[in-house]
Amino acid sequence: MIIEKKVAETIAKYKLLKKTDKVVVALSGGKDSTSVLYILKKLGYDVEGLMIDLYLGQWSETHKENMLRICSEMSVPLTIVDLKEELGQGICFIKAVLKKQKNLTGCTVCGIIKRWILNKWAKKLGADKIVTGHNLDDEAQNVLMNFLKGNVLLGVNSSPATGGKEVKGFAQRVKPLFFCAENDIRAYAKKMKFDILYDKCPCSFETYRADTRDWLDNISDGEKLAIVENFQKLVPGLRRENVREMKVCGKCGEPASSELCNACKIFACL
Ligand code: SF4
Ligand SMILES: [Zn+2]
Repeated sequence: MIIEKKVAETIAKYKLLKKTDKVVVALSGGKDSTSVLYILKKLGYDVEGLMIDLYLGQWSETHKENMLRICSEMSVPLTIVDLKEELGQGICFIKAVLKKQKNLTGCTVCGIIKRWILNKWAKKLGADKIVTGHNLDDEAQNVLMNFLKGNVLLGVNSSPATGGKEVKGFAQRVKPLFFCAENDIRAYAKKMKFDILYDKCPCSFETYRADTRDWLDNISDGEKLAIVENFQKLVPGLRRENVREMKVCGKCGEPASSELCNACKIFACL
């Protein structure tokens, strides 16, 4: 199948994974992460699932039930991290506080917290690599949003593989679906009859991304691929000229670009 072939090609071309790696797949419960978990297992990788219960009501409950069932059917171990046990609050409350205190909106807060938890737990699980389900449409949106914000440097880490052993404290994150269009992944998940939710997250109100996504819906998947591939040609040059020294967060010990990591800056508001 075309998606499976593309994933195998991306892994080989960018040397994303080895068969000896312990691969932790970040599962949201949606079509992208479910598909990538299934494909990697089928390709013979040593995979296990890592999910965060964000406490988004019935939506989270259904995702959890689905992932427990699917992982059990695939004989894949699954760890579910409870956000309330980790941080004392569900994600909507945290987002509301940050909106009020710092005017931080959209999925930024959730994204920072999820990355922090994934990195911490992937290391706890002894992962060599963390796989995420980011797809071609996500990447095209990022390129365009950064460009429209006038800050293409925000995409300096854009790549099928980010972080890595050379970046102290980061479990390397890899994106095998980097060149796979969302439409193709949805079609694949439906063809494979994955019994999951295909709706969008009820807490997603990042209007800038939604507007960008709507705009990109007017162009073909081939044009989205051109946006992503052309930006990839610029990335090595951007990296050479913008080397950022990574530090260790003074509070939690996770990687940070300043004295405190972004997650600890958020926790300080709660
Ligand atoms: S869509 Fe936004 S709020 Fe929902 S899980 Fe993703 S990052 Fe979090
Ligand atoms: Zn920190």
